[in-house]
Amino acid sequence: MKSFIVTRSQINSLAAELLSKNWSIFTQSEDRKRFKQCESESEISVDGNGKPSDVSFKELFFPKSETLFYFNRDNEELTLLDPAEPGTKTVIFGAKPCDAASVPVLSKVFNWDYNDEFFNKRVENTIVISIACSYSDESCFCTSVGLSPFSEIGSDLFLIPTEKDSFILKIVSEKGEKFINEFPFMIQKEFEGTFDLENQKASFPKEKFDFASVKEWLGKNFKDEIWNEVGELCLGCAQCAYVCPTCHCFDIVDENCGVSCGRRVKNWDSCQFGLFTKHASGHNPREDQSRRYRQRVNHKFNYYKQRFDEILCTGCGRCTRGCPVSIDIAQVLEKIQCKQSAAIV
Ligand code: SF4
Ligand code: SF4
Repeated sequence: MKSFIVTRSQINSLAAELLSKNWSIFTQSEDRKRFKQCESESEISVDGNGKPSDVSFKELFFPKSETLFYFNRDNEELTLLDPAEPGTKTVIFGAKPCDAASVPVLSKVFNWDYNDEFFNKRVENTIVISIACSYSDESCFCTSVGLSPFSEIGSDLFLIPTEKDSFILKIVSEKGEKFINEFPFMIQKEFEGTFDLENQKASFPKEKFDFASVKEWLGKNFKDEIWNEVGELCLGCAQCAYVCPTCHCFDIVDENCGVSCGRRVKNWDSCQFGLFTKHASGHNPREDQSRRYRQRVNHKFNYYKQRFDEILCTGCGRCTRGCPVSIDIAQVLEKIQCKQSAAIV
């Protein structure tokens, strides 16, 4: 697909036009804590150098709390009402490649045994404009899970900064092409050169572990001392799951808002909570934190790959940055790889 040269001022004009047409626009907040909704084009952040926001943009597709239906009981008659469909056209500006890549990964589970229409509608209504990433810290490991700071997976349009206030705008998806064609001022100057990706690779985060080795070890070693070591540290607070772009556990509850009416709600949950697997009988098959952390790692690096041929992790490092007791998931995976290498020798 084609690429174009665009300036920051053209990007601002695009945002201004979208706002005038009542599109919702989201971008990373100045304090890099989360994605925020913009009221003015001047708030748009297209910053490849910036740290990934503390919280991913997952909630724009999979809200923290979502009403599935409302109910009302009038004597013996029960009435169900659908909530409003998510209809707002949305553009996300300046997503990191490790955020964008989570969308197709989540789409697999939300279209597995049931098509989640609300999730699908939000994906359909959203244009993801990502930017090549030049930030890296000790928590990043996108290159260990098959991605890179230039990965276009999950993006509709992709920006590569070239010089000050100038970018290559790559069209990635058909949806992105259809969208950008509606704004002719964005596609005036075609980029016909080639971008030398090889030159950039020296600054990519180093590969910390070999995914295939980790998966193989996990498949053969359900019980191991490593889970007790991490489990003793882990608080079970689920901070790692809530900031993660790919974690998708949820719970469904009925909330009454009167004697005879209420709503059924889908809320974020986490396999790191003790109650998550507790049976009505009181039995809990994951009765301690070592078992819960083992589940988290196996789900991400073993089971999801088996079921959906995807790794349930984009290597964004948010869980490590956010963990109150400094559990570093990449370090755990490095240790697992060492165990696998030792087993082979
Ligand atoms: S954030 Fe850290 S302490 Fe909290 S559940 Fe996750 S790994 Fe455990
Ligand atoms: S598990 Fe951690 S590093 Fe992987 S996607 Fe989730 S938050 Fe990012």
